[in-house]
Amino acid sequence: MNRYSLLQRMGLARLPVSTDAERKVRRQMFTLVGVLLVLGAIMVIGFGVFHQRWVFAFVPVVWLCAMGVAFLATRIANANYDGKKHLERVGYKVCPACEYDLSELPDAGTCPECGGEYEPAMLKERWRDIYTKLEEKVGR
Ligand SMILES: [Zn+2]
Repeated sequence: MNRYSLLQRMGLARLPVSTDAERKVRRQMFTLVGVLLVLGAIMVIGFGVFHQRWVFAFVPVVWLCAMGVAFLATRIANANYDGKKHLERVGYKVCPACEYDLSELPDAGTCPECGGEYEPAMLKERWRDIYTKLEEKVGR
């Protein structure tokens, strides 16, 4: 089973996440941002090109979506924190390329999911690097 999300496959979210909670919140946020962009485009085109004043009825919806995005950004920060704690608990034994759970496997070897080689120091370094990047992205 490939655990990469559609967004990761499309190259929109290159950074992997380690827990389902992180994935879920991230998906919700991308959906909301998508809704925001579509409504924004309808409003700009509707008023700018067709001079339709009714598009301003979307303003409260856009505002709510923006609030939702802000709320989800906080949830993502929390999920990232939990994900990081989870990785520390399992000794970073999660494949950084495909997020396969390596906890039942030997300390060093090959990921049965994607075939990538791993060893403890490399896993720790990769996940630290990923979380440093995630933390720089969220809310900034
Ligand atoms: Zn893997």
